[in-house]
Amino acid sequence: MEELAIMGGRPVRKTLLPYGHQWLDGGDIKAVNRVLKSDFITQGPEVQAFEKSVADYCGARYAVALASGTAALHAACWVAGISSGDEVVTTPLTFAASANAVIYCGGKPVFADIYEDTLNINPDEIRKKLSDRTKALIIVDFAGLPCALDEIKDIARQKGIVVIEDAAHALGAEYRGRKIGALSDMTILSFHPVKHITTGEGGMVLTDKGTYYEKMKIFRHHGMRPKPENGPWYYEIDEPGYNYRLTSFQCALGISQMKKLEAFIKRRRAIAGQYNEAFAAMPEIIRPVEKDYAKAVYHLYVIQIKPRTLKAGRRQVFEALRAENVGVQVHYLPVHLHPYYRNRFGYKAGDYPLAEKYYDHAITLPLFPAMKDRDVADVIKAVKKVVNYYRA
Ligand SMILES: *Cc1c(COP(=O)(O)O)cnc(C)c1O
Repeated sequence: MEELAIMGGRPVRKTLLPYGHQWLDGGDIKAVNRVLKSDFITQGPEVQAFEKSVADYCGARYAVALASGTAALHAACWVAGISSGDEVVTTPLTFAASANAVIYCGGKPVFADIYEDTLNINPDEIRKKLSDRTKALIIVDFAGLPCALDEIKDIARQKGIVVIEDAAHALGAEYRGRKIGALSDMTILSFHPVKHITTGEGGMVLTDKGTYYEKMKIFRHHGMRPKPENGPWYYEIDEPGYNYRLTSFQCALGISQMKKLEAFIKRRRAIAGQYNEAFAAMPEIIRPVEKDYAKAVYHLYVIQIKPRTLKAGRRQVFEALRAENVGVQVHYLPVHLHPYYRNRFGYKAGDYPLAEKYYDHAITLPLFPAMKDRDVADVIKAVKKVVNYYRA
């Protein structure tokens, strides 16, 4: 058996392969440069052009570009009217920003456990968590696989509450043949470098609802509401907003990146396919599922170590893979287990057993469009090497 790098053996790779990485090319750099040399570097025409490009791609009527995905979540919660005393049901298995946004508005995130297979929020669990104070749902298309949207929208319709879809992982994904982006009341995107397209930092809210759109534009611009009847300079603030604008040169980058999105998705799905095939015959590894109702876009490729099949736990396997220079990650510690959430709301280990069980066994493998076939082969080789070594 091959000696593991963590025990002094030779690593599969010489240099660390990250789990995610942006793809930037000459066209992107040119697009940004053009704006940097122009008169308006923050509120130029590129902002609307980028919004239109994403809205058209997703089939949504309106889009509002924001400084980050987190700002987009905040904007969505704000226009949904979430305030002190309101509850929002969301998944424990997400990046903390999905739930933090509720707290920014004074609300309480209430978690509902996931499906064991898709890792997305389970509508039956949502039903158990509804109360008189429930104002909205924040659902997350984990790793790029759409949620059970029909069931979730039925719940929201019956209850008369808003659905905010955190699609930070899911730009380009499809649910029953329709693109994510116009299927919930509001859909959130992130353009952080590890996501499907990047603007450095950046985010967006998509919606079909004109009133949300108008309010969000005011929210991202300090809460300033123009009132031309009082003069062309005149604005008023009814409620303080934020400076959550995205710059013109970032939007120019976004427009340029959108041209490559389909190719990025194709590459992500191809790499996921190679992983699926390589791990198919390994009973120690639980692979991500793809449901026939959806097209997944694989922001992440997460494997779970099947309990009791290895002599090592997740942490040991993780550290062994890192030593092989494979930049594995873990997404995510369930949100209710963060100290703030435990202390403020009394959440504790055991509250969401499926999210916690997933967390104990999950490892995210590198996956990004700029990965070479050689890189993919290295990851597969390292996983096989480590699993073979620790096989029970
Ligand atoms: C990345 C991410 C966010 C936040 O986006 P930023 O652009 O980093 O602020 C929110 N939710 C999920 C699920 C994410 O993965």
